[in-house]
Amino acid sequence: MQYYSLQHQSDSVGFREATILGQAPDGGLYFPSSIPVLPSSFIEKISTLTKEEIGFTVMESFVGSEIPEGSLKTIVEQTVNFNFPLVDISNNIAALELFHGPTLAFKDVGARFMSRCLGYFNQHNSKKVTVLVATSGDTGGAVADGFFGVDGVEVVILFPKNKVSKVQELQLTTHGNNITALEIDGSFDDCQALVKQAFKDADITSKKQLTSANSINVARWLPQQMYYFFAYQQWHLNNIQAPVICVPSGNFGNIAAAVLAYTMGLPTTHFIAACNANDTVPKWFNSNEKELSSQQSVATISNAMDVAKPSNFIRVLEMFDKNANALKQKMSCVSVNDSDTKKAIDAVYKASNYILDPHTAVGFIALENYLQQHPQQKGYVAATAHPVKFPNVIEEVLQQEIAIPQAVQHLFEKEKKSIPLSTNYNHFKEWLIHSKIS
Ligand SMILES: *Cc1c(COP(=O)(O)O)cnc(C)c1O
Repeated sequence: MQYYSLQHQSDSVGFREATILGQAPDGGLYFPSSIPVLPSSFIEKISTLTKEEIGFTVMESFVGSEIPEGSLKTIVEQTVNFNFPLVDISNNIAALELFHGPTLAFKDVGARFMSRCLGYFNQHNSKKVTVLVATSGDTGGAVADGFFGVDGVEVVILFPKNKVSKVQELQLTTHGNNITALEIDGSFDDCQALVKQAFKDADITSKKQLTSANSINVARWLPQQMYYFFAYQQWHLNNIQAPVICVPSGNFGNIAAAVLAYTMGLPTTHFIAACNANDTVPKWFNSNEKELSSQQSVATISNAMDVAKPSNFIRVLEMFDKNANALKQKMSCVSVNDSDTKKAIDAVYKASNYILDPHTAVGFIALENYLQQHPQQKGYVAATAHPVKFPNVIEEVLQQEIAIPQAVQHLFEKEKKSIPLSTNYNHFKEWLIHSKIS
């Protein structure tokens, strides 16, 4: 499979190069040169297939010959070795729980797949690769866990001091080994600015092979489509009509993966991209503008979706052949404010004894409103994180403490290790150049 740049100013590359580069040299996102359509027999017999078989079948053509079949099968198996249950919340809404991976958020799937691909590609390379990533919480944990112990790869994560939740902080700071956490006395934007500057700094890039692990990397984006097929495997047992799929969206990688699955043949009635107060794309849907407007991001309680200009939206549009009308027919896009989000967490808990995390709650409301207008349809929301990752919001709304799931209890026995740094670029640069990681 070849990947072209959506800026069309760089050459096409294979999966290996796209994974290592992350972004095309012209600044564009890589996009597959053709999207294969799965045979209808695949969907018809989906209930007879294992997760691993489904995953391998949907990923195979995107990876191509650059990873041999046996190794790709192992990578897929290790990526999806937890459950993706579709759980009923009400009579017409289910939750596709994507938070049963090691860091309790859907980003585990992309991070696990990407780390193993990079490990595979780098196995005969004597020079280590340094993955540099800024996080507002979820990305860093998933990347740390995914890359932990991967040979030839060092990971440096920058996170804003006192601005991530306890569980998130432990997920970032307790690995050790090839994972280093830098605790920056500033905001997420400060962390991101330091990372961006480092990528442009020849003093650093001449000494270290840097790569990023953000969601525009094809090796993080593409594997996310797998769980929409796992959802259909469960959905079709009880439903004749295809689902309305609602995805809480920030950078639009996850919804773009859902649309990719649809393009490959996944039965879908309609898509909803649910945003918080960061409403650049909802505004575009209600206008006839060609481009997304520029806005500043605003802070919300669903902070993993506080993105002003979603990078992956262009991939969604590309899958509709840049036809805005066709896209608007198949997809809705709405903005939900914090107050309605909190009300939904409360209402769903009272009605169904189910705790939505703030991101999933944004999606739940969007889907509920849509289904009120379309009472013949049913759907599910992608539950993108476990509520324990956002205890402050949940405890404020439900007036009770939230139990720590067994999967993360061990973190509380581990020692936090991080390196405190200011937002001063030169200090960060000194550290990066002279740190023992090479
Ligand atoms: C990252 C994240 C999102 C947003 O996903 P995108 O692919 O960036 O749209 C939503 N919810 C949670 C919990 C996240 O961590």
